[in-house]
Amino acid sequence: MRRLFIKTYGCQMNVYDSERMEDVLAPLGFESSDDAAAADLLILNTCHIREKAVEKVYSDIGRYRILKEQASAEGRQMLIVVAGCVAQAEAEEILNRAKAVDIVVGPQTYHRLPALVEQATEARRRGSRQRYIDTEFPASEKFDRLPAATGRSAPTAFLTIQEGCDKFCTFCVVPYTRGMEISRPVVDVLAEAQHLADQGALEITLLGQNVNAYHGRDERGRETGLGDLIRRAAKTDGIERIRYTTSHPRDMDESLISAHREVPECMPYLHLPVQSGSDRVLKAMNRRHTSGDYLRTIDKLRAACPDIAISGDFIVGFPGESDQDFEATLELVSEVGYAQAYSFKYSRRPGTPAAEAENQLPEPVKAERLARLQELLNQQQLQFNEASVGRRMKVLLERRGKHADQLVGRSPHMQAVHVQVRPREETPSAETLDDLSQAAYSSHIGKIVEVEIVSAGPNSLKGRCIELSPARTAA
Ligand code: SF4
Repeated sequence: MRRLFIKTYGCQMNVYDSERMEDVLAPLGFESSDDAAAADLLILNTCHIREKAVEKVYSDIGRYRILKEQASAEGRQMLIVVAGCVAQAEAEEILNRAKAVDIVVGPQTYHRLPALVEQATEARRRGSRQRYIDTEFPASEKFDRLPAATGRSAPTAFLTIQEGCDKFCTFCVVPYTRGMEISRPVVDVLAEAQHLADQGALEITLLGQNVNAYHGRDERGRETGLGDLIRRAAKTDGIERIRYTTSHPRDMDESLISAHREVPECMPYLHLPVQSGSDRVLKAMNRRHTSGDYLRTIDKLRAACPDIAISGDFIVGFPGESDQDFEATLELVSEVGYAQAYSFKYSRRPGTPAAEAENQLPEPVKAERLARLQELLNQQQLQFNEASVGRRMKVLLERRGKHADQLVGRSPHMQAVHVQVRPREETPSAETLDDLSQAAYSSHIGKIVEVEIVSAGPNSLKGRCIELSPARTAA
């Protein structure tokens, strides 16, 4: 057995990619391990989206270099691989700066990882220090060459249906690191959905950098949009919930919007980044939509699915953003009413047009605006959660909570819900809860249960279980 340790940075796409790397390396005898020091192969699956992402990767490589030296002193060979978006963007630079790195592989070529690992292993046996780099963009090849996902016996699973982006927002590195948009064929997506359901998944999240730009071909070669893909995926035996992320406002077409009305499995939750409420800033960002377009889309979504929870992304302090522009963002937020949101200060991404703009804003201005925006978003999130108190909702239980009788799951609206499985008066204390009854609690994980919400906080809900549904349990 060879031990594989993967450190995953960033988004759900990377979590999915890391799992697929485990799949492609399994035939070489690699098994996942949580112990970096004992690893034979150590992979950093990197993300380039957040500020200082690159420096974080180099600092982690520095720590792993020490583990590699220790392994070498013990007569063991450890290979270090840098994968993902930083690998794509900085390939040669990584090899120059970090001598401990053996392989650099981009997001579009990790299906070639087994061959690269075998070559590097063989080279080390011969005493060669040769290092390997593969950051091509043979996009159409990647999904064809990957083995079937193994599935991980979890009630929720990710399924990548689309990669890359052609939008070229002026602040974003994705089109440069992940390449142009490609969509997987419909039959492949449906086969993987069935496979994940057979492994115990009740909920799948369809992933893509620009997921609602999906346009995969069906069996007859016809282009299929995300709305119709969801309609077909909803018929997968065992799948009870479908989510998708991340969407672009321009690609919210009528078919997708009506899927929220027509398909019960399509959850009433949508992450739809707007970034700014100012049309001037949206234009400078090359977002190709206005605030009015965005608001009209939200109206249509709410007409189709009145209780849909809207989530968003915001960048404050984009180059040239004026006080008025920022006020327009606050107005848009007030008008939409977000259930949750992610907001960041603008930070330069080397190689992107906005990074070259001369009208960069001072940090204190960005920080002050971000604080104001987050105060409003936090208020809205709390209001949204508080409106759930007294309601009954289906919760998919995913893991054990902090307390002995507590399990944690997600509501249809993506809220974390801490569920007390039995009435408080029947609940044994943590001390008296023996292993057998703990196992009984855990057996509820992977079920969808009816929960009454009894209280709400800014980040989660608390509820009590009304009844356990006869829903399937994850294998
Ligand atoms: S649409 Fe999203 S992924 Fe594409 S360039 Fe814009 S921010 Fe990046």
